[in-house]
Amino acid sequence: MNDTTTKTNLIGLSRDQLIAEMATVGEKPFRAKQLWHWMYNRGETDFAKMTSISKTMQGALAERYVVRRPVVTKELTSTDTTRKWLLKFDDGNEAETVYIPDADEERGAVCISTQVGCTLTCRFCHTGTQLLVRNLGAAEIVGQFMVARDSYGEWPTPDDGGRRLSNIVVMGMGEPLYNFENVATALEIAMDGEGIGISRRRITLSTSGVVPMMKECGERLGVNLAISLHAVTDEVRDRIMPINKKYPLAELMRACREYPGASNARRITFEYIMLKGVNDSPADARALLKLVKGLPAKFNLIPFNPWPGSEFETPDIRTTKAFSDILQDAGYSAPIRMPRGRDILAACGQLRSESQRERAGLAKARAAQGIEDGHHKVGA
Ligand code: SAH
Ligand code: SF4
Repeated sequence: MNDTTTKTNLIGLSRDQLIAEMATVGEKPFRAKQLWHWMYNRGETDFAKMTSISKTMQGALAERYVVRRPVVTKELTSTDTTRKWLLKFDDGNEAETVYIPDADEERGAVCISTQVGCTLTCRFCHTGTQLLVRNLGAAEIVGQFMVARDSYGEWPTPDDGGRRLSNIVVMGMGEPLYNFENVATALEIAMDGEGIGISRRRITLSTSGVVPMMKECGERLGVNLAISLHAVTDEVRDRIMPINKKYPLAELMRACREYPGASNARRITFEYIMLKGVNDSPADARALLKLVKGLPAKFNLIPFNPWPGSEFETPDIRTTKAFSDILQDAGYSAPIRMPRGRDILAACGQLRSESQRERAGLAKARAAQGIEDGHHKVGA
């Protein structure tokens, strides 16, 4: 029997949805509370091992439900200890999840994807070249973090919070604010103190600048915000990030000023890719300071990570250092993010699902033979 088509996955339901689901089989809210503990604190996937639930009830649940993760089709660990999982979902689509340890390797962030591909086609981003796009569901999003915990054996959730997978960054494939409801449900599950228990202060959501959704994100989730800024003028930003034509810099910066919960203790991170000759001059750095004036801001300078066929180059380290110095001299934190996991294509902007790489290769081969590719484009 194929569980994926006949049984409902309990992962990904909000607490209220789980209570409602239990009600449909005549169970009280207490059952949902028990399940929540087993699924999200203990990481259990087998009803038969949920020992606080009676054998009869275990059987009844197993008849209708499953507790499922996305399937790991590949796990790669970089020479710098970054780890990447290629995951396959029920419909065959794939996405990537990355664990990026801190320098001391005692803690680190799990970088999760929110869409298969991305509709936004930023020119420097490998994900944006992927043809197939769909939103990930809440189960597929929180399931990525759970797969990472499986891999590091970090269930159950320890009381003291001592675990390596300490943070979540929503910085993988896709634009989270174009899939807000599912992202919000998944993060609310991850933040729940009786389950996975990652505090909102340890979660950072990165957006390319979907202005109309930013306020709701802050109000509902209260997570840290990161903005993929990457340029200081509309002219350059329009060119490298098409979303800027819809929500230009002035509007984006206004939405940042109004982001709920931003403060000196919780600054907004401005991510800035260093692209040689495009946005990397000292004048750009000074314009950047002007742009964020009055905002609780910090910067992350990301040297461009090349990918096969990309059109940009990475500036030399002196240029990047000079840029960073200008920001730091003005009192801002502006570390240069050394790329992690480059050898396994796990660095920022290098994510793209394997099936798409293979498909792209296939399309090329077919084109060479004059055969049309039937896989193109699912809008989202
Ligand atoms: N779509 C969201 C979330 C993805 S975050 C967003 O764009 O913010 C991924 C981060 O990696 C973004 O800051 C993105 O701009 C950056 N990035 C994309 N391609 C990159 C590349 N080739 N080199 C370095 N950083 C890149
Ligand atoms: Fe999408 Fe972000 Fe990549 Fe732009 S940088 S294409 S918004 S994933």
